[in-house]
Amino acid sequence: MELSERDITYLPGVGPKRAATLKKELHVNTALDLLYVFPYKYIDRSRFYKIREIEDTETYVQIIGEFLDWQVLGAGKSQRLSARFTDGNDIIEAVWFKGVQYLKLQKGVKYILFGKPSYYNHSYNIVHPELELLSSVNMETRQGLEPHYNTSGEMKAGWLNSKAMRKIISGLMPDLKNGIPDTLPLSLREQYHLMDLTQSLVNIHFPKNVTLLKKARERLKFEELFYIQLQILRHMKRREQQYAGLSMPRVGAAFNDFYYNHLPFPLTNAQKRVIKEIQADLRSGKQMNRLLQGDVGSGKTLVALMCALLAKDNGYQTCIMAPTEILANQHMETLSQMLSGTQTTVALLTGSTTKKQREALHAALLAGQIDILVGTHALIEDTVQFSNLGLVIVDEQHRFGVAQRAKLWTKNINPPHVLVMTATPIPRTLAMTVYGDLSVSVIDELPPGRKPIQTLHYTQLRRDSINRFLRQEIDKGRQVYVVYPLIEENKKSDLVDLENGYNYMREHFPGCKVSMVHGKMKAKEKDMHMQAFASGETQILVATTVIEVGVNVPNASVMVVENAERFGLSQLHQLRGRVGRGAEQSYCILLTRVELSKDTRKKMDIMVATNDGFRIAEADLQLRGPGDLEGTQQSGLPFDLKIASLSTDGQLLELARSAASDILEEDPELELEKNRMYKSQLSKLKQHTVNWADIS
Ligand code: ADP
Ligand code: MG
Repeated sequence: MELSERDITYLPGVGPKRAATLKKELHVNTALDLLYVFPYKYIDRSRFYKIREIEDTETYVQIIGEFLDWQVLGAGKSQRLSARFTDGNDIIEAVWFKGVQYLKLQKGVKYILFGKPSYYNHSYNIVHPELELLSSVNMETRQGLEPHYNTSGEMKAGWLNSKAMRKIISGLMPDLKNGIPDTLPLSLREQYHLMDLTQSLVNIHFPKNVTLLKKARERLKFEELFYIQLQILRHMKRREQQYAGLSMPRVGAAFNDFYYNHLPFPLTNAQKRVIKEIQADLRSGKQMNRLLQGDVGSGKTLVALMCALLAKDNGYQTCIMAPTEILANQHMETLSQMLSGTQTTVALLTGSTTKKQREALHAALLAGQIDILVGTHALIEDTVQFSNLGLVIVDEQHRFGVAQRAKLWTKNINPPHVLVMTATPIPRTLAMTVYGDLSVSVIDELPPGRKPIQTLHYTQLRRDSINRFLRQEIDKGRQVYVVYPLIEENKKSDLVDLENGYNYMREHFPGCKVSMVHGKMKAKEKDMHMQAFASGETQILVATTVIEVGVNVPNASVMVVENAERFGLSQLHQLRGRVGRGAEQSYCILLTRVELSKDTRKKMDIMVATNDGFRIAEADLQLRGPGDLEGTQQSGLPFDLKIASLSTDGQLLELARSAASDILEEDPELELEKNRMYKSQLSKLKQHTVNWADIS
């Protein structure tokens, strides 16, 4: 029977109970599925270490030697057995916290001790090492790399630990002797020097050496990325054929009047370039799907406005969607200011818009009396109808879920052009996979006169000197943000922190006025406090991350982030972007506790070292993995990557994409005989993937 038809229940070492666990935990049903459960690491069991050769806590080691002595320390829950193990030259400690009563160590007998060292009290020890009697081990068979598999708690409870998985999977190896049908055609494998499927599956589980393992991984990763790209690219081509893009060839009165008579400052070269790129899209006859990346403060709002004017000149309306009410209000204010004295109309729609205002607004929209509608996600409600929506601009897009964005598509018979703007760059690998094929424009230049923000990392012990510094800045007429983390808006202790922070600032800065803003406040109250800070009436704003995106108070020159360890890198970068908006030197002070994890320290170091949003986004991807990046959190990655990684396999992804693109270039619908395999593989994939390419 073929591997794909063999139920795992009947495999040696499985049985009904374990099969049920495997089905539930790993979605594994057949023997073939099982072969696609890949090890997460390999351990070289042919190498033996001397104790003095141990140099880190990353590598597993095995040591031949014997026990000198041992003792049981502590009592009850903290009871542990500590044993001294020697290789003849040096001594290492082995420690057991559990199962102490079952351990029967012997003196004068040689063991193989195996485990991952940890470093404690200036020396290495091994917690819960594996022990084997040297005499019971056949050294002949001990070669190659030993695979280790991830297992869940439930699997372990059902005796399906890594060792058991290894045994079950090794039982399938004889079935691979005769080869199994490949899932990539020979021509493609030859072109890209890829290992065949059978060999790849053998070597991913039981590699003879590192080179073969590498080849196996490469092939399996390539395949995974290739079929995703094939699917995305085919979908995009279809969409292109299906929908004509709204044609906006004209540059007319609205744009020209603004450009020549109302522009508040000369555009930067980067702004000019980006507007040209967008303009080219708008007149191309294809539907635009463009990502505008520009670091905080680079002037994206102005670009958005000028694009909206282009749409107006061609008879279309624009909506600009912002993630928070504060930001929507601010956009409204900025735009109405810039547009005052022009013929272009702008309106605001948020959760706070009253029913009556809303009705009037709906009518005006349908009558085409509103050119630009600014708002929060209230915009995407079904009742909001436009007379002729032509351009959708989504600001700080990473805050929106996929489904929310998709809804904007339905606001016109022909999908409007879409421009998503973000200060948190999306690493290219992610853009290529999650967002299909966004074209990308970059504003890589800040308006003139800006000084780079200085970022400093301090522990909370330095509060006094920080306060002195804040006082100096305030005395110079500057303003200060103090931001507290608030993971969920209803988390009580966080709110207490914030309120304590507010009181603390009022106490320590006599003569200063302090505003406070958080998500639990009523919109009106929030607005009032925000307004007081924006107008300079208050000098200090204590807030949660509601001010994270977009807020623009150029006179604010210091951003203090409390408990900075609790923020993600992109968030920190966003927060930092709230200052440095005027001509003054600005500062971002990251406050953390004294003891920091390795990752947190890295995070702080990166923040201090660079202001470059791209570098920060890449580092964020490396540190957290794509599943945790903002924007993918709400929606989840649209597919599970079993083996490829968006953080490290960028090059392979490019290769897979160009392979897929070549094939579709010649045969868009995959109808040629030679491409049959692609089509059948895609139809298998399709069952559990959605089309995500048209989300933005
Ligand atoms: P972001 O890209 O972060 O959304 P904004 O659009 O809020 O940035 O712009 C930041 C600040 O820079 C605003 O105060 C805006 O008025 C100003 N600004 C934008 N473009 C220019 C320019 N070309 N020259 C000078 N200042 C500009
Ligand atoms: Mg902005």
